[in-house]
Amino acid sequence: MKIKEIVSALERFAPLPLQDGFDNAGLQIGLTDAEATGALLCLDVTEAVLDEAIALGYNLVISHHPLIFKGYKSITGKDYVERCILKAIKNDIVIYSAHTNLDNAQGGVNYKIAEKIGLKDLKVLEPKENSLMKLVTFVPAAQADMVRNALFAAGCGNIGNYDSCSYNLEGEGTFRAKEGTHPFCGTIGELHREGEVRIETILPVFKKSEVIRTLLSVHPYEEPAFDLYLLQNDWTQAGSGIVGELEEPETELEFLKRIKKTFEVGCLRHNKLTGREIRKVALCGGAGAFLLSQAIRSGADVFITGEIKYHDYFGHEGDILMAEIGHYESEQYTKEIFYSIIRDLFPNFALQLSKINTNPIKYL
Ligand SMILES: [Zn+2]
Repeated sequence: MKIKEIVSALERFAPLPLQDGFDNAGLQIGLTDAEATGALLCLDVTEAVLDEAIALGYNLVISHHPLIFKGYKSITGKDYVERCILKAIKNDIVIYSAHTNLDNAQGGVNYKIAEKIGLKDLKVLEPKENSLMKLVTFVPAAQADMVRNALFAAGCGNIGNYDSCSYNLEGEGTFRAKEGTHPFCGTIGELHREGEVRIETILPVFKKSEVIRTLLSVHPYEEPAFDLYLLQNDWTQAGSGIVGELEEPETELEFLKRIKKTFEVGCLRHNKLTGREIRKVALCGGAGAFLLSQAIRSGADVFITGEIKYHDYFGHEGDILMAEIGHYESEQYTKEIFYSIIRDLFPNFALQLSKINTNPIKYL
């Protein structure tokens, strides 16, 4: 199997257009046409992680955090990133990273954290805006099913946990084919009336090119008519953070102690206890303090994230319990997501979670 088959499986799960503007997710180093000898899954790429891959004989390293974040004018090994780049190239290792695209994807980083905590009824805390569009097209009745199914296969019609969503209205289309055309029906030079179905369906903006390509290839008309509208609806299946419910309420101390254990936190920082039970939990892996106000608005009893700045702690006593569990600790189970995506598709492929703890922060 080629490395690019694994990369495309990861990108079907966490499409690159879902990444935030500052990010550099995707292929970091290497040529994906090579046959994959095995994949090592990690949170961060370090020299020790690359040595681990080399010792295993694996030529693919998949990380959550991108190795490369800036432009380079030279690569001489003066810092660990440059040394990793040199080591990877020298050893024919491909490095691929799924970062904020995996944070923002359904089933991504925050869903994994929610699974570890045991949350149900999950909702995205800050859904993506301006990411959906509507396609309307007009198809002869006899071809409507075929065109609709092709649009669904290309990524249209997903709303929440439903797929194949569309609205269909029968009507009549008119056209007159001019000289030099090849009309599917009707006669050149004569006004034609055709029984058509108006098909409406929804799609993510980043699927637009693929969907239009599909529509033009399957629609029977020489010049298919279609309209695209940008929607103002939030995309509730993609975005930052998660909020969900506990099966059973817990006291704040019970909950914090459980989180400390589950995520192996050396020192869990939190603000003043509110005195209320924990039922609803908002969370965001990594540096998620930017979601604090959304967490409060969601009615969550606690907000868990990897990093919270000193000043962000002020002014929320009694509003919400804030718990800071460490960046690495919050995202450490992300590699399990890579594992299950690849294992499901390629059951016999050599795959291993890195055994190296790349957390650069130690607790005294
Ligand atoms: Zn992170």
